[in-house]
Amino acid sequence: RCVFQRSLCSIHQPLQLPHLPATTPLCLSLDAVADAVNANTNQLHNANQRSNLALGNLQEGVLAVDDQSRVLLANQAVHEHLELANEPYLYRPFLEVVRVPLLTEIVQHVLSRGTPREETGEIGTHARALRILGRPLPLGNGCNGVLITIRDETLLKRIDAVRKDFIANASHELKTPLAAIRAYAETLQMGALDDREAAEKFVASIISQADRIDGLVKGMLQLTRVESNSALKMEAFDAAEALEPCLTAARAMSLSKSIQLELQLPEHPLIIQSDRDGFQTIASNLLSNAVRYTPEGGKVQISLTETPQHCVLSVTDNGIGIREADLERIFERFYRAEKGRSSDTGGTGLGLSIVKHLINALGGSVTATSQLQSGSCFEVRLPLPTRR
Ligand code: ADP
Repeated sequence: RCVFQRSLCSIHQPLQLPHLPATTPLCLSLDAVADAVNANTNQLHNANQRSNLALGNLQEGVLAVDDQSRVLLANQAVHEHLELANEPYLYRPFLEVVRVPLLTEIVQHVLSRGTPREETGEIGTHARALRILGRPLPLGNGCNGVLITIRDETLLKRIDAVRKDFIANASHELKTPLAAIRAYAETLQMGALDDREAAEKFVASIISQADRIDGLVKGMLQLTRVESNSALKMEAFDAAEALEPCLTAARAMSLSKSIQLELQLPEHPLIIQSDRDGFQTIASNLLSNAVRYTPEGGKVQISLTETPQHCVLSVTDNGIGIREADLERIFERFYRAEKGRSSDTGGTGLGLSIVKHLINALGGSVTATSQLQSGSCFEVRLPLPTRR
């Protein structure tokens, strides 16, 4: 009994043995002890399974190293974050298993100084941004190992970079018209006010720059709303009917440039399940781009058709076209293929980004094809309601 008790205690926890009178025959005593050992082993096994399950499902990597730098534990997240080879690691030297200099530094620091250390680094073939914290891990008998936790902050960093980029772009876009307004106002102040003709020109320019700022602010607000998906209201409506106000606005724009609008609309109602405002924003942005980027006397074709699963809106122009290198980027915020020309035509670089976000939120897709100096075609597919 003593031998059993001592051997088990040394491994895990005190063994709960049944109390037996001294006169109990040896065979009965051994049976009782064997039962107790079995029960204890099962308990340990279950506890072990529970902690493995919990550790295995953590998104945070957990790695433990003993005072000899041998690996005691590494959960699944550690394997993923550090891209470890799929081979046994238990009790192997840490340096053999994890060949990441930053981690080695942290382990050595904690083992030699006994104080925590936290670092962030870009690690692995995918350059993940990992935040690594090493802390002393008491192992008994005054020995300390190292407990390392690893958090993947790649997504957070990317979001932060997008946010900074957005602020930088937005301030840059706002700065240009503001500087122009200031320059026109100063010129007026310095004497141009007395020259009626010049003054009228400057005031008109101030109004046009203020309109540009207004367009930018509206675009940014719309993009923020679209990104948060909060404004979508899904309902069934006729796509051709919803397109009508967008066509009216496009006709007005195209008149001043003598651009011919060609329509191909379905003969029967084309009912879609979507967000009406969103659909109209998509159509208006594509139509206004087609007219803005098509020179005088050009042609814009609009068609609304259906396939078994989709409503297809396509807007084709024979305008200035888009270079192949730009075509990949035109859906990015603030991206303009031709900066000068776009701002001349009142462009903000936000229209297609709004279109893309809306289409994604509505479960559809958009493709753009174009050839420089020949024209462009934007095709939007939105899902039709499932028929019973
Ligand atoms: P913008 O307000 O500048 O037009 P968009 O996001 O709507 O911004 O479009 C991004 C860029 O894509 C535009 O600056 C322009 O260079 C290009 N583009 C979009 N539509 C067309 C088109 N139909 N023809 C030629 N270029 C286009």
